[in-house]
Amino acid sequence: MYIKKVVIEGFKSYREETSTDPFSPKVNVVVGANGSGKSNFFHAIRFVLSDMFQNLRSEDRGALLHEGAGHSVVSAFVEIVFDNSDNRIPVDKEEVRLRRTVASKKDEYYLDGKHVSKTEVMNLLESAGFSRSNPYYVVQQGKIASLTLMKDSERLDLLKEIGGTRVYEDRRRESLKI
Ligand code: ATP
Ligand code: MG
Repeated sequence: MYIKKVVIEGFKSYREETSTDPFSPKVNVVVGANGSGKSNFFHAIRFVLSDMFQNLRSEDRGALLHEGAGHSVVSAFVEIVFDNSDNRIPVDKEEVRLRRTVASKKDEYYLDGKHVSKTEVMNLLESAGFSRSNPYYVVQQGKIASLTLMKDSERLDLLKEIGGTRVYEDRRRESLKI
């Protein structure tokens, strides 16, 4: 499974609906002038896939909405189109669309147009190998150094996430709580 396409509208510097060409399942490189929106683009991807941007306050949401002289927006969305030809997401579809919308008062997730909870999204992503707390598939500045400096136990946790097994450990722990 890999990210095939990203569609952004109203998010940070992306006012108009902007859609990428299909990505390669291998390595993709984003280039552009300073201030052209590269970091915002990766922020948009992490906004949908990572659990770092949960429990947003109203002002956090406001900062994500495009603001410009006379043309600010009231809502935004980022949609990630996954290539699911390997059926890592257990639905019989070649393509799966995960969209997160944001407005000043709320933010929500939609899977192929159907409203889904944050927990459902995070579990689905993790079992499909898209680790949520450590989005290794977006290599941020300083990430390589931090991987080499991690404790062995932290690296093991990361491997469990990448392998998609940690979610089962979490569920097992939850089920034993009763
Ligand atoms: P660099 O090469 O310098 O790292 P970059 O391509 O990563 O640049 P970004 O940081 O993604 O650029 O984009 C910065 C631009 O996004 C700035 O011009 C900033 O004003 C604009 N921007 C950020 N948030 C918003 C927002 N909420 N509304 C409108 N524009 C925004
Ligand atoms: Mg940048």
